[in-house]
Amino acid sequence: MRRIKLHWWILIGIGAGIFAGVLTQHLCIAADIPVESTAAYAAYDGIATIFMKLLKMIVIPLVFFSLVSGMQGMGSLARLGRLGFKTFLFYMGTSLLAILTGLTLVNLIRPGVGFQVEVPTTPVDKELPETFWDVLTSMVPDNVIRAAAEFELIGVILFAILFGAFMLTLEGEKKTVLSRFIEACSDVMMKMTGFVIALAPVGIAALIAKLVSVTGTKVFIEMRWYVVTVALALGVHLLVTLPALIYLFTRRNPYRFIWTMSPALFTGFSTASSSGTLGVTLKRAEHGAGISNRVASFVLPLGATINMDGTALYEIVSVLFIAQIHAGIDPTFSLTLGQQLLIVFLGLAVSIGAAGIPHAGLVMMVIILQAVGLPVEYTALIWAVDRVLDMCRTVVNVTSDSSIALMVAHGEGEVAEGSD
Ligand code: ASP
Repeated sequence: MRRIKLHWWILIGIGAGIFAGVLTQHLCIAADIPVESTAAYAAYDGIATIFMKLLKMIVIPLVFFSLVSGMQGMGSLARLGRLGFKTFLFYMGTSLLAILTGLTLVNLIRPGVGFQVEVPTTPVDKELPETFWDVLTSMVPDNVIRAAAEFELIGVILFAILFGAFMLTLEGEKKTVLSRFIEACSDVMMKMTGFVIALAPVGIAALIAKLVSVTGTKVFIEMRWYVVTVALALGVHLLVTLPALIYLFTRRNPYRFIWTMSPALFTGFSTASSSGTLGVTLKRAEHGAGISNRVASFVLPLGATINMDGTALYEIVSVLFIAQIHAGIDPTFSLTLGQQLLIVFLGLAVSIGAAGIPHAGLVMMVIILQAVGLPVEYTALIWAVDRVLDMCRTVVNVTSDSSIALMVAHGEGEVAEGSD
């Protein structure tokens, strides 16, 4: 078992999951029973749920301890500020490039032109933030314990950043004792993460089997050009743009780096949650790619929540897809240049504000649709195919976080040679 690397175990898990899912679906169709009523489905669901819960269980303490300990590693507020600024520039830069890719492809392929559709009247039944300001204010927690309990990562991160920053101003024994305590807690969380990761191949197999056994293909055929546009744009960002940036900034082999990070990408793919994947991302970045603990534990937890290239790209493609459909139904409708710029700006803002959990990007899209006067009911179309697209954009989100961690660490001379 030791000899085979984790990546391969996960790939075997994905293969086994697809096989089990297809088999279950076929057997159920032959026997004319609903998939959800079978013992096999209950097992996939049970294992997948336990795996997801374990991943989520470690996130809050992991984010807090690794972020605070990463910040102490910076030594001073000045260095923290410099690194924070650089990291933020990378986050924004890569997200804008992703948006540009999405914008280009959605205008070339035009998936919504000629799309015949009855506007579905059932609105999305999720609680939605109403305005841009609602999103911003919701980022500040009034109670950090409640924020943690409700998995509001931005609130926890904000608290951790303030805690870490003020901890840097402590002096003498207090500082030493607290630093060692936080560092030790962070080490324990990393070990716990290692334990959960060891279960990844089985958890991922169950997640995939569950998905494959119930998802039909019909809806994908109707929405094919939209799915193709999103997938292609994500592919370009993942395989061309990010590797080019990695090469440009580090002169390292980007594909080798991506392969080193692949257990995190597979986990992101199967869970559709960059926050849930954070433990794996941190572990691979440090132990696989040789990125120093202080850079990884600062850049990755922040990135998992605010840097979402895949989500930004997907927002743009989806809103313009909806605009294209709507223009076909209501010929008086067209987007002004100002509205298009607003979409780009809000796409970026939404990708920062969206939580790293499944479907967050789709829920937040309503903000953009409302801002440019498009009916939010169109999102019902997208829900039908969102799970798979969510899995794909989460891979891009995780890859972008990891790539930025590598680029920042390289700039600081903090990548151990030869470990990837
Ligand atoms: N599921 C994505 C993530 O966790 C967010 C999104 O829905 O776009 O990265």
